Amino acid sequence: LQEQVRRNERLTALGNLAAGVAHEIRNPLSSIKGFATYLAGKVQGQDQDAARAMIQETDRLNRVVSELLEFARPGEMKLRDEDLAQVVERALRLVRADVTAKNVAVHFEQAGTLPRVPLDPERFTQALLNLFLNAVQAMDQGGTLRITAAQEPDAGGVALRIADTGHGMAAELVPDIFNPYFTTKSSGTGLGLAIVHRIIEAHGGEIKVESVVGQGTVFTLMLPTTGRRS
Ligand code: ADP
Repeated sequence: LQEQVRRNERLTALGNLAAGVAHEIRNPLSSIKGFATYLAGKVQGQDQDAARAMIQETDRLNRVVSELLEFARPGEMKLRDEDLAQVVERALRLVRADVTAKNVAVHFEQAGTLPRVPLDPERFTQALLNLFLNAVQAMDQGGTLRITAAQEPDAGGVALRIADTGHGMAAELVPDIFNPYFTTKSSGTGLGLAIVHRIIEAHGGEIKVESVVGQGTVFTLMLPTTGRRS
């Protein structure tokens, strides 16, 4: 128990530190992005490409900061009954620029009317963003991101499937992908799926993955509709 208390204290201290650092980094980043956006509107050709690359890289840094912050933050969730489709659509709007840049077609379908799902909208959106961005990054030559939501009464909840037509992953990597710091990307943090896993568990849900190299990957989130409220 004492070990647990100490661990919690360490996590809280780490969370506070991360929040402080995130704040200090985000403000200058947003001015850099603002100036780069201004420049991109003033210049043409190669200069404009350079300014646009700066904008993209600031977005990426912002994401890394969010991941570190989310990872260091203790896992309390504020669940409230939400319209899952609305939350999905909002998250999709946030990745629109990445989706367009990679020529990815997006389809979202829900089977009939879904019951409301107990969610922490902010944290759940973070999980969706990580999954959507991984999917887009796996589709270098374009492809399709297909999201489906359906009630599965047998499983006592709603299944949200996120399927991409990307490069997939080798079967021997699959057991590692939810581990913190596991990444196959040159500039990855390996925190994305660890965060997703933690957020889905805190919702009382489960996450599964099926992947075929060269064909794509499907993540399935099972979310209880009468959630364990923590
Ligand atoms: P990061 O994106 O920083 O690498 P993640 O934890 O989000 O960290 O992902 C870990 C690894 O899992 C990725 O590096 C990649 O190899 C693999 N992965 C995750 N999502 C997908 C996907 N949709 N398609 C193929 N591989 C994936």
